[in-house]
Amino acid sequence: MAVRVSVGAAEIVALRDGEHPLDRAWHFPGVPAQAWEGQDGRPLNFGGYLVETDGKVVLVDTGWGPYLGPPGGLARPAALLEELAEAGYTPAEVDLVVFTHLHPDHVGWNLVLDPGQDPRPRFPNARYLVPRADWEHYRDLEHKHPNIVQQALPLEELGVLRLIEDGHRVTPSLRAVALPGHTPGHTGYALGDREAFLLGDLAHHPVVLRETGWAQRFDFDPEQAVATRERTLAELEDTGTLVAFGHFPHPGLGHVIRKEGRRAWLPW
Ligand SMILES: [Zn+2]
Repeated sequence: MAVRVSVGAAEIVALRDGEHPLDRAWHFPGVPAQAWEGQDGRPLNFGGYLVETDGKVVLVDTGWGPYLGPPGGLARPAALLEELAEAGYTPAEVDLVVFTHLHPDHVGWNLVLDPGQDPRPRFPNARYLVPRADWEHYRDLEHKHPNIVQQALPLEELGVLRLIEDGHRVTPSLRAVALPGHTPGHTGYALGDREAFLLGDLAHHPVVLRETGWAQRFDFDPEQAVATRERTLAELEDTGTLVAFGHFPHPGLGHVIRKEGRRAWLPW
């Protein structure tokens, strides 16, 4: 179910596309099983966040989408569009689609692929904003994931792609913040004076707020990912900033706090 939170004059809606089981050894190959003791085994969440601010409707990431079944995608039909409707929005009302990064589980609803027809934007009135470093990296990659080929690369030819850099103002109050490491162009989106901060894949599980050195399987540059994670989480600790992690249990919203001398996750 879509979860809506007001942040000042803005609204954030967590949209769930689906989930699949977290295979700890596979996702965190360097972490021994006993290090997970006491952690629950909840599945990985997939989806996106809608931000309504400055009179604009912004969708941050579009999930796995409807075109990939197991083992690549979700175990059941993807639900992001239903959640969008449930939250009271049509695809035509989305003004901007922005991406934290170009991994296949973040681009899946970008385009409509009807058999025998050319792909067309799922959000017909939107511009699609992609961090430049990710666009260049994934465009030039030799082995591309089907979701990147089908859901990301056609954006350029369709004329709806815009490349953005660190500091780009998506709207006057929503700003791109480079958080590199998980991918070359991995980007967070900060609302206002960091009243809220969408952090993408800065962490994949709440335990990583404490264990910031745990590299995730898909961290492009693990050393940089760890450094970015540590610095960003330290800045956010006990500040009251509402943060969003797309892979944490739905809705993935909460606060970074210090509790009993350790950094921890306080779900919203
Ligand atoms: Zn992801």
